[in-house]
Amino acid sequence: MSTHDHKPAVLNFLGGAGTVTGSKFLIASAGRRILIDCGLFQGLKDLRLRNWDRFPTDPRGIDAVVLTHAHLDHSGYLPLLRRSGFRGPIFATQSTVDLCCILLPDSGRLQEEEARYANKAGYSRHFPAKPLYTEEDAFDCLNALRPMPFDTAFEIARSFSATFRPAGHILGSATVRIEVDGAAGTTVFSGDLGRRNHPLLKPPAKIGAASTVLIESTYGDRAHDDVKSIERFDEAILRTTARGGVTVIPSFAVDRTEIVLFHLRRLASSGRLPDTPIFVDSPMALAALRLYKTAISNCDSEVRPEVAGHPELIEPRGLIEVKTSEESIALNGRPGPMIIISASGMATGGRVLHHLAHRLNDERNTIMLVGYQAAGTRGRTLLEGAPNVKLLGRYVPVRAEIVDVPAFSVHADRHELIEWLRSVPAPPEMTFVVHGEVAAAESLRNEIAKQLRFGAAVPRQLEHVRIA
Ligand SMILES: [Zn+2]
Repeated sequence: MSTHDHKPAVLNFLGGAGTVTGSKFLIASAGRRILIDCGLFQGLKDLRLRNWDRFPTDPRGIDAVVLTHAHLDHSGYLPLLRRSGFRGPIFATQSTVDLCCILLPDSGRLQEEEARYANKAGYSRHFPAKPLYTEEDAFDCLNALRPMPFDTAFEIARSFSATFRPAGHILGSATVRIEVDGAAGTTVFSGDLGRRNHPLLKPPAKIGAASTVLIESTYGDRAHDDVKSIERFDEAILRTTARGGVTVIPSFAVDRTEIVLFHLRRLASSGRLPDTPIFVDSPMALAALRLYKTAISNCDSEVRPEVAGHPELIEPRGLIEVKTSEESIALNGRPGPMIIISASGMATGGRVLHHLAHRLNDERNTIMLVGYQAAGTRGRTLLEGAPNVKLLGRYVPVRAEIVDVPAFSVHADRHELIEWLRSVPAPPEMTFVVHGEVAAAESLRNEIAKQLRFGAAVPRQLEHVRIA
């Protein structure tokens, strides 16, 4: 086809530009509009308020959504998109579909609880406070999910096809290649990229040929030190247990819990950790844990060969599942030593709040942060050494030890991001650095220009660019 016949394609950054959350990228070509990811803005209040803005384009005019993975900053806006008139299919890998069935209804339930609580306590500026969406809205959008296999191109709308490749970030996570018939080039979305040494999942697959690349930059300005991080994790657990303290680990329900359990099992099997109860206190984390065990037992293609068939590797001795909220509250009266793993991972909500409220004020205890802590979250406040933190309407003094283990993050660091880009057979026409706070995105952009000599840009929120 001659260049004169090329159909133009336009990429529009509707979220995840200059922030780590709210990922939403729209491609319009040949009269079709495809949305890649449909995430919630999270963290700082200004960002969260963006979720309430009118969607920048009419949701009824979007033909299909393609999801890279199930994390809410990539999927959590779907129930609202659907309620606002979107009626197309939502394509995702099978494990992403399974995880969305856990995460999205829970997100709706949480929004309803928060609105109810705000009305009861009277702290909302709007009365009555309304949820962004409900559990019912979430269930409604699950019907639109269409599971698709890895490594096989499928049609998403007339003229548009997509291919998922493993991204190694969480179970089901994928990079997405989009091709438009009659338009030049291929656009690759990294979604969130995992780490080469994830203990359970294979590393991200090679990028393949691409004319346009969107790459995440959560840790675009940092390198993880794995050896030191594992040592710091082991020593903090052993030190806290020895002084009879409680280790509270705010953990993202999906994947981080499995990594923490993997390392606790390693530590226990080495004989260094005496028998200590390990409570997993999050119904969502427990549901995700079952999916991980099934994937490992079934030797799913994403699972590392050395752990395939061995689900016991994420079942340390002493593991106790906390199911009801009564059981969760009962832990408040229990003396250490013990380990409590509870959501949410940045301490923005969930059961971990009452554990922090009960354990922060005691120097024997440890709060261990095992993932990225976005600006504006309680996790970030703790990480920055605040003397007090506000929890459930009260200020609580921080006397517990705060330990940061960022290498347990399931995000690639800057070297791993550059290595993934380097696997492209020919330089892309343009690389867009997305899904990072501005400093991290700019830093990765400079590194891409310096090390790879690729054209790279940090797009602005709501910016449009021609990609064909
Ligand atoms: Zn993610």
